[in-house]
Amino acid sequence: MVIVMHAHASEEEVEGVLARIGSLGFTPHVSKGTERTIIGVIGDERPVDPTAFEALDGVERVVRILHPFKLASRDFHPADRVIHLPNGSKLGGEDVLLMAGPCAVESREQLQAAAEAVHGAGVRVLRGGAFKPRTSPYSFQGHGEKGLVMLREVADELGMAVITEVVTPEDVPMVAERAEVLQIGARNMQNYRLLAATGSAGRPVVLKRGLGSTIEELLQAAEYILAHGNPDVAVCERGIRTFETATRFTLDINAVPVLKQLTSLPVVVDPSHATGHADLVGAVARAAVAAGADALLIEVHPNPAEALSDGAQSLSPAAFGRLASEMAGIARAIGRNTA
Ligand code: PEP
Ligand code: MN
Repeated sequence: MVIVMHAHASEEEVEGVLARIGSLGFTPHVSKGTERTIIGVIGDERPVDPTAFEALDGVERVVRILHPFKLASRDFHPADRVIHLPNGSKLGGEDVLLMAGPCAVESREQLQAAAEAVHGAGVRVLRGGAFKPRTSPYSFQGHGEKGLVMLREVADELGMAVITEVVTPEDVPMVAERAEVLQIGARNMQNYRLLAATGSAGRPVVLKRGLGSTIEELLQAAEYILAHGNPDVAVCERGIRTFETATRFTLDINAVPVLKQLTSLPVVVDPSHATGHADLVGAVARAAVAAGADALLIEVHPNPAEALSDGAQSLSPAAFGRLASEMAGIARAIGRNTA
């Protein structure tokens, strides 16, 4: 952290800052220029709130040097992280992992049909929401634990792993018992008690970026899970809110290479929620893989027109089959395979 003093800061004001630095256990490094004094704070600044210095007399501004996240940073863990799932699937690493299935588990038949379709296209990680955080309280909220049971049964029959959303800290043990991967949804990215609870879940977590959250906030949210003891965290770009209304959200494609620079956590892209339109999912998925995404999370419904949630963005089995083979081609072009 670097503290820039005002041009006419007095000696006493500089002394006051040095005293505060010392009292917080850091070593100051003073550099007196012709116009102003700047003071370096030597030590791990992350636990320190910059306002501890900003409020002091004579201070013009405080500049952070380190990212506010540590465990999530690539500096801390340079090698790409790989999350190993019990069925042999890997999230992160060489291959691009496809995770697909319905937005919500609606019925055993619907789930079975979706799972068989995506499995037939090579997918080994089944998505499906049992607990649905819906914008309207009148929309289908999911089947809860019954949905988890269906996911487990269908996935086991096909040798698939399950990724499903958990929405409250209390539900974490129940969801962790039935699913290999916990999903934290965009609306819960800053639900810090939920993040902390998944730290001790013993299951990998895919953390979705909040609709209005910066990349730095996403990585700070990931840091919560890591700091609570769970090393298996992946971050997911799923579109952010912008002024554009042609699509449901705006996929921040920049986030993919930015995240790859800042963190070694696997990076997932969800083109379904980002676009909101089935017709657009393929193109955006191709862009995501080309940009370096480690995994895709895609909604597929046996009959999108009848879906209880997110039908407009759900792919039919045939459309998903085409997308899966396109993804394989894009992955090959950048020296990867799909899995
Ligand atoms: C979902 O994956 O079904 C979902 C609700 O996603 P998000 O949290 O990104 O809106
Ligand atoms: Mn959905």
